[in-house]
Amino acid sequence: MELTDTQKKFQESVREFCKQEVEPHAARIDQKGEFPHDVMDKVADFGLFGCVVPKEYGGLGVDTVSYAIAVEELSRVCGSTGITVAAHNSLGVMPFLLFGSQQQIEEYVPPLAKAKEGLSAFGLTEPEAGSDAGGTKTTGVRDGDDWIVNGNKCFITNAGVAKTLVITAKTDKIPGSRGISSFIVDKDTPGFIIGKKEDKMGLRGSDTRELAFENMRLSADKMLGKEGEGFKQFMIILDGGRVSIGAMALGLAQGAFDHCLRYARERELNNCPITGFQAIQWKLADMYTKIQCARHLIYHAARLEDAHRKFSTESAMAKLYASEIATEIAHDAIQVVGGRGYMEDMPLERIYRDVRLCEIGEGTSEIQRLVIARDLIKRVLD
Ligand SMILES: Cc1cc2nc3c(=O)[nH]c(=O)nc-3n(C[C@H](O)[C@H](O)[C@H](O)COP(=O)(O)OP(=O)(O)OC[C@H]3O[C@@H](n4cnc5c(N)ncnc54)[C@H](O)[C@@H]3O)c2cc1C
Repeated sequence: MELTDTQKKFQESVREFCKQEVEPHAARIDQKGEFPHDVMDKVADFGLFGCVVPKEYGGLGVDTVSYAIAVEELSRVCGSTGITVAAHNSLGVMPFLLFGSQQQIEEYVPPLAKAKEGLSAFGLTEPEAGSDAGGTKTTGVRDGDDWIVNGNKCFITNAGVAKTLVITAKTDKIPGSRGISSFIVDKDTPGFIIGKKEDKMGLRGSDTRELAFENMRLSADKMLGKEGEGFKQFMIILDGGRVSIGAMALGLAQGAFDHCLRYARERELNNCPITGFQAIQWKLADMYTKIQCARHLIYHAARLEDAHRKFSTESAMAKLYASEIATEIAHDAIQVVGGRGYMEDMPLERIYRDVRLCEIGEGTSEIQRLVIARDLIKRVLD
């Protein structure tokens, strides 16, 4: 798990940036429940919205391990900022880099890397198609060279602050997951309706919305990749996205652990620090062991991605494990701290709420287990 010198330097600089520019605003972002444009402008200036974008298109062009480190460090101090950056890079920008034509990449990617004119979002989930995203009901019907899109999406991260979105629609009547295609949607397209911002349990500064398409006309050049390949595409996108949600969970867990350890060292009962109690020592040991295991899984999946090797199962395992232990660690951190951990003046209660999403977004824990088990069963049969 040793990082390269370049990765370590990147980690140090992102950590310092987060400490100076993000952490001081995290409580306010949560309490206001509004998208923090001021903080996101600083994140954009630092270049983190262009983590996955090659330098030639104006991004940082860092490797996947470094990108995971960036999401981890941001989430360690502010989950809302972490998910915003993760969704933009992994879900919003990656579809262009992986499936876009040269012309689409040149037109869309450089402004998204800079993130000055708006972010990007990925509209896959629908009211009747979440875990079963292959059951997409949104339709795209040909009209001459154009496509007419009708339907709804829900729970879409960055939807209200996006300049460009990628959405999926069924373009063929074949039943099942085949016949889905991906489209690029510019925010001002007639017939594209952005719904109200969801009021969420956690990650309250992240912008999550419904989308509606009412006879939205898209020209043929707005199709991303080949017609009918949408299902295959979003399975690939989600493999990468799961590394970033795993990194987000890891950052939240590390953040909870940081606060809990600091408090435990200082808290004295009857002139004895609570770190003298074996029950507390065991909790701290278990928490840190789980964090390090999650880190290994995430960096391993990221390294496989960097090496262009198969990493679907590894990213599912990393996301599953990191999100579940992060929930446990947020819980245990409050337990170690006691009553103070329940109060808003410590960030633990915020982390406890923020972390819950990690077991749901980009495939629930149940779906991760299906992905892992299916691969295992296939491997045995081979
Ligand atoms: C804050 C937030 C941000 C999000 N951002 C985005 C985004 O940017 N873009 C996007 O497209 N989506 C986004 N989502 C949607 C997210 O990916 C879905 O919520 C998730 O995939 C689960 O779908 P669902 O909510 O419809 O639950 P359902 O699919 O209805 O699942 C309900 C329950 O049934 C279980 N279940 C379902 N199928 C199976 C099965 N085959 N076997 C066992 N159990 C099963 C699930 O695990 C879950 O426990 C976001 C969601 C949230 C909460």
